[in-house]
Amino acid sequence: MSQFLDYEKSLACIHCGLCLSSCPTYLETGNENDSPRGRIYLMRAMQDGRLPVGDTAVRHIDLCLGCRACEAVCPSGVQYGELLESTREHVETHYQRSPFQKFLRRIAIEKVFPFPERMELALRPTGTMKKLARFMPKFAREALSLIPENVSSRPVPSFSPATRTKRGAVGLVRGCVMSVMFGETNAATVALLNRAGYDVVTPDTQVCCGALYAHGGNLKRARECARANVRAFEGVNAIVINAAGCGSTLKEYGHLLGDAGGKAFGAKVKDITEILSPGDFASARPEHRKVTYHDACHLAHAQRITRQPRDLVRAVAGKNFIELPESDVCCGSAGSYNLTEPEMAERLQRRKTEHLLKTGADLVVTTNPGCMLQIQAGLKKAGRNIQVMHLADYLYEKIM
Ligand code: SF4
Ligand code: SF4
Repeated sequence: MSQFLDYEKSLACIHCGLCLSSCPTYLETGNENDSPRGRIYLMRAMQDGRLPVGDTAVRHIDLCLGCRACEAVCPSGVQYGELLESTREHVETHYQRSPFQKFLRRIAIEKVFPFPERMELALRPTGTMKKLARFMPKFAREALSLIPENVSSRPVPSFSPATRTKRGAVGLVRGCVMSVMFGETNAATVALLNRAGYDVVTPDTQVCCGALYAHGGNLKRARECARANVRAFEGVNAIVINAAGCGSTLKEYGHLLGDAGGKAFGAKVKDITEILSPGDFASARPEHRKVTYHDACHLAHAQRITRQPRDLVRAVAGKNFIELPESDVCCGSAGSYNLTEPEMAERLQRRKTEHLLKTGADLVVTTNPGCMLQIQAGLKKAGRNIQVMHLADYLYEKIM
């Protein structure tokens, strides 16, 4: 048995169970094997050779969202995300998946999503496919329901100068899904940064951040992406990202690459909410809608950023800001999880939708493309016309 698990790190789990009530899959199934504590036990059993890398163990590892809510509440500092990534790499090299799962993971997800031109091509027949959706199996209908009617692909200029007193220069990571489906959000991000006094440089040689590969157990490919990005952003002092999932992977290049270059790159990465200041929005147009905020897992748990986005929304929405119950419980999107595990993804989508409806909000603000698609689709299923916006779009709409 090859050593795949950092055993010392797995032993940090003291079985206290304090993470259980934060784990979305445990909340839904009540099964210890679908909890962080149970999964760490399964990982160790696989490493010890007491449990084969077979259907039973893999089912519980696959069902993990990688949302890292457990990590954020763990009193023992268990680095669950790292344990999960190395276990997933081990699973992908030792477990025989069905032809459909292989196609989904190795072709559709790994060969299309990280390449904006391919994704654009793949999205072209969406309109026709939606018309034929009723003849399709449920998983295909679910996948199609995630794609909005209007997607906006808009290239970001390689250089965009500050429009107010200059404070510095930043590099922008444009993101794969962001640049194809949320081009307007990228444009709003650049405009907000320019308005805050930053020149924005967007290197053309940047590639996918590697998150989709890392979460899917393909660490080799994730490292190749990381190395390419370290080269692409050479000489840039701060690197900004507006997608929470990409941001947490970019910040963790030091761990992924295990070298000084990766560590230095990670230290420069900032989520857009760490750069913008609520004071910049004092002159925003008044808000009359009720606004709530959904915490993207990889912003709240992986990056531990919860205050800054709320401060920004509050700076504009004022008294019309309403807290969302269970705002930091995963919506079921979790990267490509809603494609590989559609059943649990739908359960969590329903849970999120129910909480959103209880707030009476007219608008949901969040910071990750996957969450936006998942929440939008959930609200549409519920027949509710509640707007979902990226925080950058929301701020842009109110100030520009
Ligand atoms: S909170 Fe941490 S130490 Fe406690 S059971 Fe969960 S992972 Fe283990
Ligand atoms: S990453 Fe999320 S789903 Fe997985 S064990 Fe931790 S809390 Fe549960």
